[in-house]
Amino acid sequence: MQPRLNHTWDDIEARLESKNSTPELIEHFRRCIGFHTFAAPGLLIGVFMVDYALELLDPPENEKIYAVCESTKCLPDALQVIAHCTVGNGRLRVLPIGKFAITMNRPAETAQVDGIRVFLDGEKMGQYPTFALWYTKDPLFDPRTRGTALIDEIIDAGRDLLSDERVRVKVPKKQPWESAICTICGEMVPDNLLVDGACADCRSQSYYEKTAY
Ligand SMILES: [Zn+2]
Repeated sequence: MQPRLNHTWDDIEARLESKNSTPELIEHFRRCIGFHTFAAPGLLIGVFMVDYALELLDPPENEKIYAVCESTKCLPDALQVIAHCTVGNGRLRVLPIGKFAITMNRPAETAQVDGIRVFLDGEKMGQYPTFALWYTKDPLFDPRTRGTALIDEIIDAGRDLLSDERVRVKVPKKQPWESAICTICGEMVPDNLLVDGACADCRSQSYYEKTAY
């Protein structure tokens, strides 16, 4: 018999229900998996992290929340879907620190603001052996045979793998800017993104070459 590679949504929903998850939390999982397009382990942990951080932050309904995500992988999508902190609306900063950690805070006009940081706590992984193998990229972790066990452990662990702390977050200053024209390509960009009159694309970050139609 072929080992089952992935859980279906029904498997995940049943597991969440067996842990007495609220309908709201289950809905968060359903929407996040749909947005992400598959039930990535890191995304599932992210759902628990955002749910936990929001509970601790306890913002008034419909308030704009700000978030910092310390990993580029999976985790940003849970913040985008559940808390509507998106890269596009400027309320999500994704920092390539490489930790499974998020910080969330309410709006502030001050230079610093109180926030909640929720992080994956390495000291709590002992009870979750499959998770520990996956998280530490141990060669003993084989997604073909352990993939469903991993998902089950993540759902069973829920917040057990997480710790939280109160932090003071530096609020990024809004940079005023005017429209300017790059002296090399002639396209318009904000003036504060020009260096010696050249846009980032013309300087070094070019990711394309022009081709003929
Ligand atoms: Zn340019």
